[in-house]
Order: sequence, then C-alpha cells, then structure tokens
Amino acid sequence: MEGKVVFKEARFDAKFIKGTEDECWLWTAAIDKDGYGRFGIIKNGKHSTSKANRISLYRKLNYDDDFWFSKLEAGHTCANTSCVNPLHLTPQTRRENNDERDNRLGNSYCHRGSAHGKSKLTEEQVLAIRAINGKTHKKIAEEYGVSDVTIGKIINRTRWQHI
Ligand SMILES: [Zn+2]
Repeated sequence: MEGKVVFKEARFDAKFIKGTEDECWLWTAAIDKDGYGRFGIIKNGKHSTSKANRISLYRKLNYDDDFWFSKLEAGHTCANTSCVNPLHLTPQTRRENNDERDNRLGNSYCHRGSAHGKSKLTEEQVLAIRAINGKTHKKIAEEYGVSDVTIGKIINRTRWQHI
C-alpha cells in the first residue's frame, strides 16, 4: 500500500527565491540535467528525491496523493523548468498529449499550422524552437510540453514546413 509523501517544508522553502505571484520562483539548490530542481523526500517510508516543481504542486493540491501517485506531471505554464511557483504549475497529462500528438503525426493527412484545431504549438513557438541553440531536443520538448520526436521534426522541418 502506498503512503503519503513527506518532505521538510522549511528546508524546501529555503531553497528557492520567493517572489510575487507573477514571478518565477527559481530553485537555488540541486538541479537535474534537464533543469528541474531536486529535493529529498520520504516516500512510502523510504528516502528518495523528486522534482522540486512536483513537490510544490503536490503541496498546492493539499498533499493530494492521487496526484502524486498518478502519471500526471507538474507542468509549467511559464516554461521555466527550475520554477517552483505553485501558481505556475498545473497537473499535466504529458503522456496522453504525446500519444495523441504521435497519432496525429502518423496520420496520412497533412495538418498545416495552428489553424488546425488540435495543434499544440503556435507558429510563434515553432519559430522560437528553431531559433534555440545549444539545447537538446529533450530539453526543448520538456519546456514546451511536447515530445522530443515532435521537436526533432520541427527542427528538421519534416513538420511545419510552411513557416
Ligand atoms: Zn514560473
């Protein structure tokens, strides 16, 4: 049986710079290779670490174990991976979104651009993605909440060729 997640809140709160509601509260302690904050927790009685943004969202959701033990992720509305401002975090079903997107990519019909109702990225975002230098496809994908396959297709222009 799965138990609650426990973490030291005072220590957690000491590891980011709290700003206003609109500002990103950037994590100042350990950051993983993808840019997410890391923080120690006790899960099911065992020491572990987790993403700081996930912990922040868990607290915002009143320590909702249904969220924690689900496949939902703590998505950023600000695309700032090290941000832990709970107002910038929302439960996100990335897997479902990716599945839906990948199905669409496998579809023989050509859907052009953001006029198509199911497009997740705007033309501005596509242009911004192509302008990014020095980041892995995986990192860009996480910032935009899409799959790295999608990012690769955008950058190699097998998708969104018309812009
Ligand atoms: Zn933020």
